[in-house]
Amino acid sequence: MKIVVDFDRCESNAVCMGVAPDVFEVKEDNFLYILDETPPESERAQVEAAVEGCPKAAISIRED
Ligand code: SF4
Repeated sequence: MKIVVDFDRCESNAVCMGVAPDVFEVKEDNFLYILDETPPESERAQVEAAVEGCPKAAISIRED
């Protein structure tokens, strides 16, 4: 899977970081960074929780 974030929608509220901290990080500059754009399957549940939890619907998963 590949993580895609629409940075025009993202408001850096760190909800995704809260559920999937190995994949998403809001850094001190207040921007969201994708730490791992192609996470392993073991991260899928956390990534899906981030997709569902994002209040801006900014995260999507692209299946390769
Ligand atoms: S949960 Fe959504 S809006 Fe919040 S930082 Fe993550 S991608 Fe951005």
